[in-house]
Amino acid sequence: DVTPLEIQQAIRNVPDFPQPGIQFKDITPLLGDARLFAGSIDLLTEGFTPGQVDTVVGIDARGFIFAAAAAYRLRAGFVPVRKKGKLPYLTHEQTYQLEYGTNTIAIHVDAIRPGARVLLMDDLLATGGTAAAAAELVRKLGGQILQIAFLIELSHLQGRARLAGYPIRSIVVY
Ligand code: IMP
Repeated sequence: DVTPLEIQQAIRNVPDFPQPGIQFKDITPLLGDARLFAGSIDLLTEGFTPGQVDTVVGIDARGFIFAAAAAYRLRAGFVPVRKKGKLPYLTHEQTYQLEYGTNTIAIHVDAIRPGARVLLMDDLLATGGTAAAAAELVRKLGGQILQIAFLIELSHLQGRARLAGYPIRSIVVY
């Protein structure tokens, strides 16, 4: 079985991307490794079996990669939360604060059936602003969030505090 340490070792730190001073966590070496990619999906969905989850929601854009594979494994539907302006049909939008400025994400108004059992997924938890906004969109549609799962958590940014009340899973914690 794949261990979180092996996954951590496959994540590349890229200094000064996309801006000076930022250490970007590059997951592409992990995604390109057949065994580690499958193992990361197993770890993200551990404890859930087909029939226990209706919908896996993935956050634009790297969250899609994990959420879609998890949805296939759990025989659940996949729903994208996208950056504003990308979804073609009627949407609900949620705006949240960034370090400089704001960001707006959206979900189709009919994407989640009221009462649906939902897993929310993204590649990385930093301040938690993105995931909190996505959780609010799911809640607005009446979805019941069973867990929010991340491949990576940057714990010093206290993202978990922003997500209080939701069960959180992260595979690799920095
Ligand atoms: P938060 O809203 O501050 O928690 O930021 C999380 C979002 O920023 C996620 O959607 C990530 O994909 C993205 N993100 C922030 N820093 C990194 C990084 O170092 N590597 C990859 N994605 C990042």
